[in-house]
Amino acid sequence: MEHPENDSQYIGLTVNSGVSQPPSVNPYLKRVPRRKPMPTPGEFVEGILKGDVTMLSRAVTLVESLAPEHYNIAQEVIEKCLPYSGNSRRIGITGVPGAGKSTSIDVFGIHVLKSGGKLAVLAIDPSSERTKGSILGDKTRMEKLAVHPNAFVRPSPSAGSLGGVARKTRETIVLCEAAGYNNIFVETVGVGQSETAVHSMVDFFLLIQIAGAGDELQGIKRGIMEMADGIVINKADGDNVGPAQLAQAQYRSALHLFPPTASGWRPEVLTYSGYYELGIPEVWQMIDRYFEFVVNNGYFERKRQEQARYWMYESINEQIRKHFYDNPEVQSRLTASEAQVLSNRRSSFAAAAEVLDFYFSKIKEK
Ligand code: GDP
Repeated sequence: MEHPENDSQYIGLTVNSGVSQPPSVNPYLKRVPRRKPMPTPGEFVEGILKGDVTMLSRAVTLVESLAPEHYNIAQEVIEKCLPYSGNSRRIGITGVPGAGKSTSIDVFGIHVLKSGGKLAVLAIDPSSERTKGSILGDKTRMEKLAVHPNAFVRPSPSAGSLGGVARKTRETIVLCEAAGYNNIFVETVGVGQSETAVHSMVDFFLLIQIAGAGDELQGIKRGIMEMADGIVINKADGDNVGPAQLAQAQYRSALHLFPPTASGWRPEVLTYSGYYELGIPEVWQMIDRYFEFVVNNGYFERKRQEQARYWMYESINEQIRKHFYDNPEVQSRLTASEAQVLSNRRSSFAAAAEVLDFYFSKIKEK
C-alpha cells in the first residue's frame, strides 16, 4: 500500500508497511462435539463428592432445567447427595440494589476463605427473567471470588415462580454441600418476597443497609428487619462514617422495640465499608458468635429441622399447583370462569368452586 507520508517532502517521518495479521480462528483447533453425553445419576454423584466443579455445575443446570426428562435424574442426584449435605454455614444476604451486596460478598467471601474451606455463592432473583438482565449472582460482579479456586459463584435460576426459583436454590445448596462447600451465601435483592424464601433456607440472615438522607428507618420493611440476625451498615467510609454511626444507633434502638427472637439471639448492628475493606473481621466475628450461640442452645438444629419440614410442604404445594394449572381442561375452564367473574355474571367463589369440583372429579376418575 502506498504511504504518501513517505514522500521526501515529509522529513523525519516514515511509515512502515503493516504486518499481515494471522487469522483469528486457530486453524489447528480440532472441532470437538459441543455436548457431552449426559452422565448417569451415579456419575453425577461420584463427581460431586470428589468436588468436581464441572460435574457440580452440570448437576445444578439439571436442577434448574424445566425439561421434564431432567426432573427425575435431578431428584435422584439430590437424593443421593443428601446424606453428604448439611455440613455448612448457610448465610443469607439481602439489601436493596446499590447497598453494596456484590462488593461486600466479594470481600466477605475472600475473608471467609482465608481460614480455609470452600464457598458457594448462590442467588434468588425471580425477577431476572422479566428484566432479562442478570441482577444477582453475575460473576463479573464478584471479581475476586469469580477467579478464586475455592469459590463457586452461580447466578440465580431465572425461570419460574419465586417458589420454584427458591426450591431450586435450596436443592443447589444440597449439591454444593455434598461437593464440600462448607460456606454457602444466598444473596437476594431486598425489595420483595424473596427474603422470606431465603430466610427459610439459611442459618443466619444478614441485612445490608446504607445510611441515607433523612429518616433511616423509613421505607424499611419491618418484616425484613425482624428476620435479620445481623444488620450491617455499609459504606462507613470518608464523610459517611458519621451518618453510618447515626444509622447504627437508630437501628439499635429500633431493634429494642422488637419482640425477642426465637433463637434467643439479640441481633447486632455494625458498620463497615465493603469497598475500603474496613470492619470486615468484626462482621465475621459477630457471625461466629451467632453460630456458637445457636449451636450451643440447640436452636441451630431445630431451625434446620423446621426448614426441612417447611420445604416438604412447599414442594407438595408447588406440585399440586402445577398439576392443577398444567391441566389443559382446567385451563380452558379457568379462562371461561374468569370471563364470567369479570363480567359479574358469577361470584369469585362460585367460579373457583366449580373449577375445583371439575378438577377433583377428574382426579377421582383416574
Ligand atoms: P448491590 O447492587 O447491592 O450489589 O451493590 P454493589 O456492590 O454493586 O454496589 C453499588 C455501588 O456502591 C457501587 O458503585 C460500589 O462501588 C459502591 N459501594 C459498595 N460498597 C461501598 C463502600 O463500602 N463504600 C463506598 N463508598 N461505596 C461502596
